[in-house]
Amino acid sequence: MATTTKKQIQVVPETEVEAGGAHEVKTKPCSECGCEVVPYQRGSLTVTSICPKCYTKKNEDRRIEANAQRRKMLMVPFDKHEELLERLTALAGRQFRSPEMQILQLIADATTAAG
Ligand SMILES: [Zn+2]
Repeated sequence: MATTTKKQIQVVPETEVEAGGAHEVKTKPCSECGCEVVPYQRGSLTVTSICPKCYTKKNEDRRIEANAQRRKMLMVPFDKHEELLERLTALAGRQFRSPEMQILQLIADATTAAG
């Protein structure tokens, strides 16, 4: 069956690990949990430093963090306010800031004065 082929390729027989012969598989401790990592394939990459479980968890954590960061972003449509964008960019340049940081500074100034 085609569905089992992928799994069969990834499995390293335990006898090879224990035998210590010509096909000895070197294990390394997982950099996250410390369990012994038998090299495995991730696409064309042979992974030896992190176990599959920790790899999956790390990717999931990264995805969650990226989504959290995205929720903190605002898209500001300057398409009908190009003059404002030019003024903002010019002001930011004079203050040695990016336009994004200039917006944050303006908001900070405005809300500090108001509060
Ligand atoms: Zn691990």
